[in-house]
Amino acid sequence: MRFDILTIFPEIFDAVLGSSIIGRAQSNGIISVKAWNIRDYTLDKHKKTDDYPYGGGNGLVMLAQPIWSAYEAIVGELDHKPHFIYMSPQGRPLDQKLVEELAAHEHIILLCGHYEGVDERVLESLVDEEISIGDYVLTGGELPAMVLIDAVSRTIPGVLSNEESYADESHKDGVLEYPQYTRPYEFNGKWVPDILLSGHHANINKWRRLQALKRTRAKRPDLFKKLELSESDKKLLEEDSF
Ligand code: SAM
Repeated sequence: MRFDILTIFPEIFDAVLGSSIIGRAQSNGIISVKAWNIRDYTLDKHKKTDDYPYGGGNGLVMLAQPIWSAYEAIVGELDHKPHFIYMSPQGRPLDQKLVEELAAHEHIILLCGHYEGVDERVLESLVDEEISIGDYVLTGGELPAMVLIDAVSRTIPGVLSNEESYADESHKDGVLEYPQYTRPYEFNGKWVPDILLSGHHANINKWRRLQALKRTRAKRPDLFKKLELSESDKKLLEEDSF
């Protein structure tokens, strides 16, 4: 899968996406991530990428021309139309369902805004969708773009190893993940639940499912309300026997 990022701060992407699991996925050729400097495409002699808003008001607005030219530099040689996303606090909220939808695209271009945002005409003419990482406002779209790339990449086969698998993870099927423990068995007077040392895999799975359901109900009642509980889930909760 290919990600291209339009930004005025291309240097910050490698620091985050160049290491750990996403860095490894790039080295293995499973994903590619390239940040393009919008400033390289401005026709302004002072290399300006923003200007004052028409109608007055605070701040600066990112110019349409450099973004447009940078976008054309990417798509000019392609035989396909990439999915073009503007990271925006006004966009569709990013959740695991949207992450999995996005993973179906072969090629995504992400536009990172700054200041007051981007000239509306870019959004009207080029952008396929706007995506938000939450109902708060950040100074720029770079962190949101990195969040999206990380979340989408880890759903792509081969990016996570078996040990890192996301099969049971929070939000995969609308429930939060069960509690996890590692060595030592006792820590500061707290013990690992005995069931996890029993070697009885069927019971361990039942215990994990029950914990996942109970903590979703306790921590995220909004998610729990949306769950369609199976008969065995209902029985587990009713009996609550572990
Ligand atoms: N004036 C804009 C508004 O009120 O909608 C906010 C602009 S914000 C200060 C600057 C840039 O940060 C945006 O263009 C966008 O790319 C990015 N951004 C800020 N908050 C975001 C969020 N919650 N999700 C995604 N991108 C965000």
